[in-house]
Amino acid sequence: MNIPFLPEPQGLSLPGPLQPLFPEPLEWSGLAEKNVSADVLRLDRLHPVISGNKWFKLKGYLQEALQSPGHTVITFGGAWSNHLIAAACAARQHGLSAVGIVRGERPPVLSATLTAAADYGMQLEFIPRGEYAKKETPDFLRQLTDRFPDAYIIPEGGAGLIGIKGSENILRTTDSGQYTHILCAVGTGTTLLGLIRASQPHQSIIGVPVLKGMNEISAIYPTALSTPDPAGWLTPEQINRARLLPGYHFGGYARHPPELLDFINRWYRETGVPSDIVYTGKLFFALWDSIRQDLFPTHSRLLVIHSGGLQGNLSLAPGILDF
Ligand SMILES: *Cc1c(COP(=O)(O)O)cnc(C)c1O
Repeated sequence: MNIPFLPEPQGLSLPGPLQPLFPEPLEWSGLAEKNVSADVLRLDRLHPVISGNKWFKLKGYLQEALQSPGHTVITFGGAWSNHLIAAACAARQHGLSAVGIVRGERPPVLSATLTAAADYGMQLEFIPRGEYAKKETPDFLRQLTDRFPDAYIIPEGGAGLIGIKGSENILRTTDSGQYTHILCAVGTGTTLLGLIRASQPHQSIIGVPVLKGMNEISAIYPTALSTPDPAGWLTPEQINRARLLPGYHFGGYARHPPELLDFINRWYRETGVPSDIVYTGKLFFALWDSIRQDLFPTHSRLLVIHSGGLQGNLSLAPGILDF
């Protein structure tokens, strides 16, 4: 089955310097020892706010919103959401109004992420956690469209088919066919599905889940595809080449025990690559540990997707991280 790429949406561009993306060789002594090479695709350098995989996932949704009558997007996220701040900034740049539905009660002091999102003009609405969990139910969505008629709803994290197709473009930014393994962090799994679809038969695609209990590739279908069935989206051949590396969630989503923080600092000192406490820190830890354990055959050429998200580190007290 040949599943086509989503064409680049017309007329959507990032103002300001959009850095050309080159995979950077990972300068780390542990690699040479094992005769394995790794390049890091620094999507964190894409844009200071609309960072990493979020731009790839958002682009198609914004394109649809621009063609919708309301010129308004609604989306969802937590207090430190990379998606929410990226959506707020991108909506502003493209002349769209934005509403952010935020998980939890309004705190007395807004997080740096929400403050910035509000500065970009996003209207923030706080809803209790219990209700937030129901945000994909028809009832909730009906209430939302009653209140914001003509608004275009972007799923949390840019999950869903449009986000998957947008993520395929990540591998098209570079000559990715030369790699044997492609690694990324997994939240909803939307990015991973895009990478799998854009990969080639000689490549293994490895996702590192940041959530507890996500162990098998099938665990991402409900969050990324809203269905337990990948038929039509992945071929059996693609499913066979993809897998998750569980066991690196450090206690669950957004958990960041001292062991992880120490690693992130050490990794930065040894490689010069900064990472975040929710996603990429766990990805690089998994990479480090897997190489130590000889998971990759000699002469493997790894491409590690740095999916950005460094702004989330602002949730830490100053001085905890060395960068
Ligand atoms: C959102 C995010 C992810 C997870 O992407 P999914 O497509 O939801 O799996 C990974 N890394 C970073 C930095 C993110 O912000």
